[in-house]
Amino acid sequence: MKTLVMKFGGTSVGSVSAIENVIQIVRKAREDGIEQIAVIVSAMSGVTNNLKAGILGAAAGETETAHQIGQTLREQHEAVLKALGGSDYAPTLAEINGMIDDYARFCDSVGVLGEATPRALDYTMGLGERISARQIAAVLRAADIPAQAVDATHMIVTDDRFQDAAPLMEPTCRRIQEVLPPIFEAGDVAVITGFVGATEAGISTTLGRGASDYSAAIVGACLNCDELWIWTDVDGVMSADPRVVPDAGTIDRLSYREIGELAYYGAKVLHPKTISPVVEAKVPIWVKNTFNPDHPGTLIVPNGEAQAGRIFKAVTAVHDTGLVTVEGRGMLGIPGIAARTFSAVARTGTSILLISQASSEQSICFMVPKASVQAVVDALSGEFEQEITRRDIDRIAALAPLTIITVVGAGMLHVRGIAAKVFAAVADADVNVIAIAQGSSECSISFAVSADDGDTAVRAIHALTK
Ligand code: ADP
Ligand code: ASP
Ligand code: MG
Repeated sequence: MKTLVMKFGGTSVGSVSAIENVIQIVRKAREDGIEQIAVIVSAMSGVTNNLKAGILGAAAGETETAHQIGQTLREQHEAVLKALGGSDYAPTLAEINGMIDDYARFCDSVGVLGEATPRALDYTMGLGERISARQIAAVLRAADIPAQAVDATHMIVTDDRFQDAAPLMEPTCRRIQEVLPPIFEAGDVAVITGFVGATEAGISTTLGRGASDYSAAIVGACLNCDELWIWTDVDGVMSADPRVVPDAGTIDRLSYREIGELAYYGAKVLHPKTISPVVEAKVPIWVKNTFNPDHPGTLIVPNGEAQAGRIFKAVTAVHDTGLVTVEGRGMLGIPGIAARTFSAVARTGTSILLISQASSEQSICFMVPKASVQAVVDALSGEFEQEITRRDIDRIAALAPLTIITVVGAGMLHVRGIAAKVFAAVADADVNVIAIAQGSSECSISFAVSADDGDTAVRAIHALTK
């Protein structure tokens, strides 16, 4: 028995014509004899941002915003159901409209409170996926493909870190294995909400922005599926962000490690956590284009190999970052400075994007998101107050905004001269390198440049692949 998990992103379910492609893709999988199909859907593109703007607006005292957003949502979904929902779309539309009414009412209460907590944000921001799953199931049924919508809140059990909740895999897999098999046995396609989960107590959570890919990987791993297909709006994972480098090409094959580095360092095409649930089950992942389904896309497999004729596979960028440096000649003799530095950063809830190799016993430097720089500097100034007074630490400095550029490719670091070529290309483009780090996984090099130079550096490096 073959099991396939497919995820369709926001653009792929974002318009009538896109959804027509989704229907054809699901139909083809069934015609190809795949017995068990789980489809994970995102909200229509733009909807999650709108839902967030509505509730934040309400918290700020704008009473109308959420209602206007609700009205736009109603019209958007009615248009899709009218076009593709067949003659019997009214019950689905009524259900969706009821959910939108709840959203507007909830935002009104947030308006009275004057505050949108992370928990309230999670409750409202997952609505787009809940609507989308019902809508896609309805249009599949109208196209004679039996389908049932399933809320992942009944399956994906998470901790209560609202906005960035982590799944608890053991209860999650147990529930997935309870809920989905009866749906498959009935011959139906399961259409599941991406992005959302719920705590053990049933309180709604979200897994982080862009996390529907992660939801799909969680479902795929728990079903021990044969393949996971991520359907998006480009021809697979490309050698650079196609919006920055128009002649970027599709990468045929990548390892879990390589895509892990790429996703962590800015390739938005896959959520960085997508790989972790499937590592053990070694599920092959295809990244494909809903708008060009005949293109083979990218295959992601457990182990990597260098790509013949190419010095690396891809170059990525993370924007809006900052470099924080703790420096002082007196640091040399004080034990535990690095540990105290990183503990102080951790207490601010900030994750460190990279630690520069410029770190020595006289300075420690690392990069964090720009939005966290001030909090990190404040935390470090507090932590090291005495050392600063004694002049053991001369300063805690910050430099922002910067962009982290990462070059990725298995085997790359064993080929002599690659780093030299990369940095020569950057220098030739007149870009100054501010800090360097070699990736821990031996398939990447990262470095920081001024934010204004980010795109120039990406293009200069990508040109090396020609
Ligand atoms: P989805 O809604 O399908 O999840 P996303 O917008 O999250 O889609 O991710 C796809 C987008 O990622 C592409 O449209 C592209 O602009 C961007 N992107 C950035 N870097 C890359 C890359 N290296 N390869 C492919 N796409 C990339
Ligand atoms: N709709 C969610 C977001 O915009 C999740 C996703 O698209 O993956 O973040
Ligand atoms: Mg995405």
